[in-house]
Amino acid sequence: MTAQHTPTPPGPVLLRAGRIITRPDQPPVELGAVLIDGDRIVAVGPTTEFEGAAGGATVMDIPAATVMPGLINVHVHLSFDVTTDPRPALEAGDLATLEHTVRSNARALLDGGVTTARDLGDRDGLVASYRAQVQAGQLLGPTMLTARSPLTAPKGHCWFLGGEIDLNGTAVENRRTVDAAVARHLAGGADVIKVMTSGGMMTPAGAPMWQSQFSEQDLALIVASAREHGLPVAGHAHGADAMAACAKAGVNTIEHGGWLAPPDADGAMGYAPSEEIAEIIARTGIAVVPTRAREWETWPPEARLDLQLAKLAWNDQHGIRLVAGNDAGVGQGYFDTLVDTVTQFHAAGWTHARALATATTEAAHALGLGAQIGQLTPGYRADLLVLGSNPLEDLHALADIQHVITGGRVHTPGAPSHN
Ligand SMILES: [Zn+2]
Repeated sequence: MTAQHTPTPPGPVLLRAGRIITRPDQPPVELGAVLIDGDRIVAVGPTTEFEGAAGGATVMDIPAATVMPGLINVHVHLSFDVTTDPRPALEAGDLATLEHTVRSNARALLDGGVTTARDLGDRDGLVASYRAQVQAGQLLGPTMLTARSPLTAPKGHCWFLGGEIDLNGTAVENRRTVDAAVARHLAGGADVIKVMTSGGMMTPAGAPMWQSQFSEQDLALIVASAREHGLPVAGHAHGADAMAACAKAGVNTIEHGGWLAPPDADGAMGYAPSEEIAEIIARTGIAVVPTRAREWETWPPEARLDLQLAKLAWNDQHGIRLVAGNDAGVGQGYFDTLVDTVTQFHAAGWTHARALATATTEAAHALGLGAQIGQLTPGYRADLLVLGSNPLEDLHALADIQHVITGGRVHTPGAPSHN
């Protein structure tokens, strides 16, 4: 491990900063303070309100810094090795190697300011095991939610993660199949059921990205079973048809959401956004996680970038809630650069504050954790970033991290390590 640990002082800690962003849609508190006790935020306000009230607290004076809520990455794969083809390592299933990958990727998340992340696909409960080590105090890391193995068709997208289900039986058999899979996930600590509704890039012999693997009826069955077990559903859907199935079945989040259609005669991928489906997604509050932002500032504008920004803006204009997730682990998707996702939203027309919300308040809401994380409010979890500059003026401040506080414990990142 290259990053340093700053020992967390016992007892309450009072941070006195130049500026506190309690939540992006509120004006920041200039010369503000946050009082933390254990893993909770106790009080937030102007420093003057804390004169004498901090008796016994260790004081951290950071007058040049901006303090804001820790970032939330809604879509990562901790067990994927950040190469263009993570599949061989996953298929081989060498658990010691994969455990090492999980730990180093989780450390990179923390270095990049992410204090909560949702893992949307691993194998053998690797993320649940990692989380248990963090909860036992053996490791310092972000809070992890896990989907365990994504449900997929036989030999379908990412089948090698262990989540194949065959829904070619009778209605009764299919229901039994889905219930068994959901119950197994729940028993293994799953927080969400992930369904590979469409094909994807990592499974060459599987369905193409634009094509659906599950019908609307299949998905409705999965959503109903997950709900009965108290779990939300994340639907992987690149294609417009898969997005339609997800929207009609009532999933909680749509992952990727590229409105893809079959390629044309020249092989160029089709793009088929639907007003009707967008209306359902917006009305029912399904969050969409675009995932395509890595190093976008270096993309050629005339090709991918203009289309990507136009897609984001189209979704926003149709009232769809977009939240930050970058598919870290896949195809050189870095764990410490969620800043790229936030700056991309800004480039597509979001204000600084709205772009920040996609990785804080809005992301927390999409995960059903809006009353626990994503803002600096008394009673919320003590997940904070200490930045060298103000992200409400320049979002690249998210890469100027001095400290990351996760559940009240202070982490000081080392140099960026993704090269
Ligand atoms: Zn993914």
